[in-house]
Amino acid sequence: MNPRHAAVRAISSDSSLAAPRERSASRARLPELFGSLVFNDHAQRARLPKAVYSALRRTIDAGEALDPRIADAVANAMKDWAIEHGATHFTHWFQPMTGLTAQKHDSFLQQTSDGRAILEFSGRELIKGEPDASSFPSGGIRVTFEARGYTAWDPTSPAFLRRSAHGATLCIPTAFASWTGEALDMKTPLLRSCEAISKVAVRLLHLLGERDVEKVHVTCGPEQEYFLIERQFFALRPDLVATGRTLFGAKPPKGQELEDHYFGAISQRVLAFMMDLENELWQLGIPIKTRHNEVAPSQFELAPIFEQVTVAADHNMLTMEVLKDVAERHGLTCLLAEKPFAGVNGSGKHNNYSLADDQGNNLLEPGNTPHDNLKFMVFLSAIVRAVDLHQDLLRASVATAGNDHRLGANEAPPAIVSIFVGAQLEDVILSLVEGRAPKSSASGKELRLGVNTLPPLPRDQSDRNRTSPFAFTGNKFEFRAVGSSQSIAWPNTILNTIVAESVDWMAAEIERRGGAGDRREVIQALVREVFTKHKRILFSGDNYSQEWVQEAERRGLQNLRDTPSALAKLDSPANAELFARFEVFSARELQARSNVVNQAYSHRISVEALSMRDIAQTLVLPAAFQAQRRVADSIQSVLAVNPQADVRGQKEHLAQITDALNRLRSALGDLVKSRHQAEEHKGGVSDVARAFREDAVPAMARVREAADTLEALVDDDLWPLPKYRELLFLH
Ligand code: ADP
Ligand code: MG
Repeated sequence: MNPRHAAVRAISSDSSLAAPRERSASRARLPELFGSLVFNDHAQRARLPKAVYSALRRTIDAGEALDPRIADAVANAMKDWAIEHGATHFTHWFQPMTGLTAQKHDSFLQQTSDGRAILEFSGRELIKGEPDASSFPSGGIRVTFEARGYTAWDPTSPAFLRRSAHGATLCIPTAFASWTGEALDMKTPLLRSCEAISKVAVRLLHLLGERDVEKVHVTCGPEQEYFLIERQFFALRPDLVATGRTLFGAKPPKGQELEDHYFGAISQRVLAFMMDLENELWQLGIPIKTRHNEVAPSQFELAPIFEQVTVAADHNMLTMEVLKDVAERHGLTCLLAEKPFAGVNGSGKHNNYSLADDQGNNLLEPGNTPHDNLKFMVFLSAIVRAVDLHQDLLRASVATAGNDHRLGANEAPPAIVSIFVGAQLEDVILSLVEGRAPKSSASGKELRLGVNTLPPLPRDQSDRNRTSPFAFTGNKFEFRAVGSSQSIAWPNTILNTIVAESVDWMAAEIERRGGAGDRREVIQALVREVFTKHKRILFSGDNYSQEWVQEAERRGLQNLRDTPSALAKLDSPANAELFARFEVFSARELQARSNVVNQAYSHRISVEALSMRDIAQTLVLPAAFQAQRRVADSIQSVLAVNPQADVRGQKEHLAQITDALNRLRSALGDLVKSRHQAEEHKGGVSDVARAFREDAVPAMARVREAADTLEALVDDDLWPLPKYRELLFLH
């Protein structure tokens, strides 16, 4: 039997897959479960000497420098706690510029002179690790002979245990830097950008009269979309294995047109997976709150309760890892790629973003009368200004090969950056700009559904606009262009930096314009000026429409359609100055980032091209040859019986196969050549990326078109790759 058919049979007959077995151990209740694998505040308070605990909390909560003398005590308590939970090893857990996480495990083992084992973990081991950095991307910062890299304990993100059936490992979140002190990871710049924004936001709040605030936090809740497919199918798709997305696949008869998946009843199989997943994430202290079916078939979403952005970023990395692990246990594969399937929706990560002061007040809470809420209006205008001035950076922060298939593809926000604030806020802003009173506010009105037994609903202050890349949703902004597989550290680092620049500028203007007298007037005038100048970035229409593309061009907004264009000016002198001023990246570090993201793009396309070539040559073409022979045999057999028989049908079918086959061969030739030329390109990293974009990507589209045509012509029993109708609809 064809392996694909064997997989279909196995999946449809294996009842253990369809009805997952009951958990043997009774499920612990959520309050006991939550955070049980985290060395969190609760565990720290219970296990650390009081003075050590207080010193540690001062670092975590108030950002004070870590006192290295407490490290031994913390390490010891952490070790005892971990061992009680079955740990034998510890690892510094860090996030190199691959966009993934990295770890190197060490056991707590020490030998005594009489040959026994004792378990040790010192403050030095907690604070500093020294993985060989030479095999991580550095963007040119580090040459191979300077291989040293350091990981440094990040006490603001709690240590946790990763458990498997055979043991547990204590994971210590760390930052990762070269021996010259330059950041080699995603976390260090994020931490730096949080410090930058806190400093300037506190300064602005003091100018607004809020003198008690000492620290401002960035809050973030990333909604995560993903696909689940049968593991047996995954193994039969070399493209999914090598690249995480399908490079081939004809459109199935049914896609998402019927809109029958979104928010639909969750199947037993998937629900079992989700419950297991949540169970594990809750133990890791990750506050997963929602689960539902997404728009595309086999697509799902989860969302956590928001947290401080540095913790949210760690938690999202862990969430992606656990998603994959748990799926595997359930005979499934979790696909995090932005566009695993052509023709149905892709996956994103809605990055909900706000600022909160150290009393927990959300600085983007408009209240009932936003026009009277000066603090809200100041921060809102600062963000509007930041997004308008730095559209290019925001766009660059989501530029990846995978996201290119999604952005602007009629389902996800376009590559043009704009802001949606909703009708009420837009009126408040425009009334300010035009110097008139705001129209009667929409708040307080009730929504009546025309059925007496249904309760009246309080109406939200604004409708939603799902098409906007950057939308104000009540009391936070939602950056929707982030890709589903991306680390959120990078887009949030950029958001923090551009918002910090804007807040800093506003504070400086307020100081410059009016020392004495009523600051409110000065501030109001400034807010009005900022909105007047930057209102072109506001758009509440349909971001998917062609009219918006033209309108945006008239407004002078940028439309950076693909990754190489979006990255072209990332390390421009102006951006280098911006990041250096807020101490997020030195010019060299920024250039290294730019190199890494450009190279990542080229590598990805290169791997996709090779995978495509292999699949086309060794799976698709042989199936097409066999199909040709069957038709040719049929023609001969029929003519042998009756030389006058009408074999036009067979001949036409054969001609169609032959035509698609020839197109496939010729497109493959182009692909191999363009990939080779891009690889051999003598220009800089961005020229190489551009070469891949301009030649290899279109050649891949031609290869795919011809192969997908063959899929629709070749006998089903000859076709080796699981088809979309199976990948997306069989569970
Ligand atoms: P919706 O997208 O429907 O508005 P929610 O209100 O449930 O959904 O929020 C979606 C995500 O936004 C959740 O992860 C939530 O925790 C997060 N979120 C809510 N408030 C904030 C905030 N102040 N800062 C950052 N994220 C937030
Ligand atoms: Mg949302």
